[in-house]
Amino acid sequence: MKMSKPVILTGLRANNDLHIGNYLGALLPMVDMAKERAGEYRINLFVPDLHSFTTEIDHSQLQAAIMQNLRVFTAAGLPLDHEDVFVYRQSYIPAHSELTWILDCFTGMGEMQRMTQFKDRTIQLGADRISVGLFNYPVLMAADILLYGSKYVPVGEDQTQHLEFARDIAGRLNKRFGELFVVPEPVKKQHEFFGKDQGLRVRDLQNPVKKMSKSEASGKGVIFLTDSPEDARKKVMAAETDSLGEIRHDYAERPGVSNLLDILKLLGGNPDEFIGQKQYGPLKEAVAGKATEFLQDFQSKLAAVDENSIEQKLEASEKQMNEVASERLLKVQKAVGLRP
Ligand code: ATP
Ligand code: MG
Repeated sequence: MKMSKPVILTGLRANNDLHIGNYLGALLPMVDMAKERAGEYRINLFVPDLHSFTTEIDHSQLQAAIMQNLRVFTAAGLPLDHEDVFVYRQSYIPAHSELTWILDCFTGMGEMQRMTQFKDRTIQLGADRISVGLFNYPVLMAADILLYGSKYVPVGEDQTQHLEFARDIAGRLNKRFGELFVVPEPVKKQHEFFGKDQGLRVRDLQNPVKKMSKSEASGKGVIFLTDSPEDARKKVMAAETDSLGEIRHDYAERPGVSNLLDILKLLGGNPDEFIGQKQYGPLKEAVAGKATEFLQDFQSKLAAVDENSIEQKLEASEKQMNEVASERLLKVQKAVGLRP
């Protein structure tokens, strides 16, 4: 396979209980990015199945979760039929595991112990409940990136340190063994490239000083993609606002109303016509209307997704990406003396 186009790589993380925050803040920007950039770039979208049990999961559900996740992305508009878009499962490409081991041997223990995400989890759970896999996960992530010569990788706050590590280890091996890897762009360049959608936060409807999150115990302020349109309407109508009696975009004083204005805009409505109004009801009605429309549309698309087309895409991509990854791995194996 010819590797002429620069590569954008990102993981499609399996995740149950997706809500409109995930959809508007993560799924949709990723799908839009794939649509806009394919052609000029090669888009590698991989299912990080090897990463998925660095923390405890129900293994009997993993296959179903992977397919459900891909169905959700497809329903959100992922362009499966584009020739520059590749969708593959990490574990179907053994080079990920093999390169990880090699990179492991050039990685310092201290380097991994300093990762803040790992430190945080260790404090939360205690060292004995943290797997070596979780400890080692940034190295696997570096392999995911470096095998394909990826230049751009969208990184959230919690991933910036891991991207920096991928750059470090690539530079380290290049320096010692010659040009083995493309060094991905630094975090700042990544943010410039991916633009404004990174960091967008939909707030909880009941507690609008916090972001909408699936771990929110009651779920009353969270619109899940599986909610019935009627439930979503009720949640919006019951959204927490303020007693200031004027609609303005002002997160400090009016977080609830500001969140509703943002959600309305993100769902394709026009928030401007509500600015300055004294009644909150019509704004809520408008948001509820857009939210129910959105859910009806999304849920019918999801029901119509053809799993066969997903399976065909996976098979085709995995074949091609195995070639790309094996070629890079062989180069590394030769450099470190594992192959003649
Ligand atoms: P948890 O409560 O377990 O952390 P979550 O609801 O915060 O779950 P994640 O799985 O942490 O969801 O996040 C998945 C993706 O969705 C990430 O890219 C994250 O940045 C994005 N995301 C999560 N919550 C929101 C939100 N409220 N608004 C916009 N994007 C969000
Ligand atoms: Mg979260």
